[in-house]
Amino acid sequence: MRRTVFNEDHEAFRETIRAFIEAEVAPVYDEWFAAGQVPRDFYYKLAELGIFGIEVPEEFGGAGVESFKFEAIISEECARAAVNFGGSGVHVLLCLPYIKAYATEEQKKRWLPDFVTGKTMYAIAMTEPGTGSDLAGMKTTAKLSEDGTHYILNGAKTFITGGVHADRVIVCARTAAPKEDDRRFGISLLVVDTKAEGYSVGRKLDKLGLRTSDTAELAFVDVKVPVEDLLGEENKGFSYLGQNLPQERLGIAVGAYAQAKAAVRFAQSYVSERTVFGKTVASFQNTKFELAACQAEVDAAEAVCDRAIEAHDAGELTAAEAASAKLFCTEVAHRVIDRCLQLHGGYGYMNEYPIARLYADNRVNRIYGGTSEVMKSIIAKSMGL
Ligand SMILES: Cc1cc2nc3c(=O)[nH]c(=O)nc-3n(C[C@H](O)[C@H](O)[C@H](O)COP(=O)(O)OP(=O)(O)OC[C@H]3O[C@@H](n4cnc5c(N)ncnc54)[C@H](O)[C@@H]3O)c2cc1C
Repeated sequence: MRRTVFNEDHEAFRETIRAFIEAEVAPVYDEWFAAGQVPRDFYYKLAELGIFGIEVPEEFGGAGVESFKFEAIISEECARAAVNFGGSGVHVLLCLPYIKAYATEEQKKRWLPDFVTGKTMYAIAMTEPGTGSDLAGMKTTAKLSEDGTHYILNGAKTFITGGVHADRVIVCARTAAPKEDDRRFGISLLVVDTKAEGYSVGRKLDKLGLRTSDTAELAFVDVKVPVEDLLGEENKGFSYLGQNLPQERLGIAVGAYAQAKAAVRFAQSYVSERTVFGKTVASFQNTKFELAACQAEVDAAEAVCDRAIEAHDAGELTAAEAASAKLFCTEVAHRVIDRCLQLHGGYGYMNEYPIARLYADNRVNRIYGGTSEVMKSIIAKSMGL
């Protein structure tokens, strides 16, 4: 089926990203993979390409586009080449919407120009060692100083993507105790300068996949955060998370679908070349059936993504619909990539083959941004269950 979600401008952008990956990423990706992160300078290259400013208003140095479609294309092209751009996805897809929606004009003037140039890289810290799915249980605190000029931040976060390179982190912290009838009350968002005294980056975590993304532990000991760096209103952070998580989940759905599509392409190419028992792997009926079944799943996931992207651009994608798209596409990708790896035999298990990287990278899609079980809870709630 012809995709109608992208126009000529989008396809031209796709060509640019594809050429950029071929020239600037593929030749050095093994080095990044071994180092466990992309070099900091790479973010300046992405900034020069204009990627960080696409959705930033023109007055702050961006292109002022109000559409998720360019982000979707970046995800699709990264998946196609089985690479990822480190923490840059979090910078744009996760952090920017919060700044656009909740920062004051003064804050936007202060933060967005350097956001666009890559001088200031952003990350977002919700998860804590003791709290992931149940975010209302977070323990990090931010107490207002007696003179009311700053918050004093104490606590720890973990699994923070981009945590090593980040210059500012949107930290979710308790500024007030929960109410008896509302556990979600009392959480605020602070845009913390990572050079502040008492702020430290702990271990860069050793992960199964997404090897080039710097996922880190963070610790805060009496970090002074000026009140000017509070994002939005005090104690309303949980509702801000609720409003922005659907875009994060859509982004994960699109990335997962694209990884599944790439897996089919890699497998098809591999089985056409590899011979066993005197014939190509592609010639076995099992291989044809496996790839056909995978293709059907990818087609369905593509349709889901395309509808969800259009709905999101129209401002209509609900939290439950985003959860449904994430659940469906990430579960499809899980099945499809596993079957495509199987068709590679032992070579599929080797990191030098892109299918191995896709397999490892994709696994987290059913976990982060909310697990599949949490997605089911959201969908069930929307069904009145
Ligand atoms: C590579 C990576 C990058 C990440 N990046 C970030 C980041 O940048 N910022 C950030 O804040 N976080 C980040 N995370 C954290 C991620 O969002 C959490 O890991 C995720 O939300 C799950 O939380 P948890 O790990 O504490 O698991 P838990 O909440 O402890 O869940 C354990 C199990 O219990 C299940 N479970 C939980 N609640 C229920 C329920 N109500 N009903 C049924 N089952 C349930 C879960 O589905 C899961 O199977 C990242 C994680 C990873 C792995």
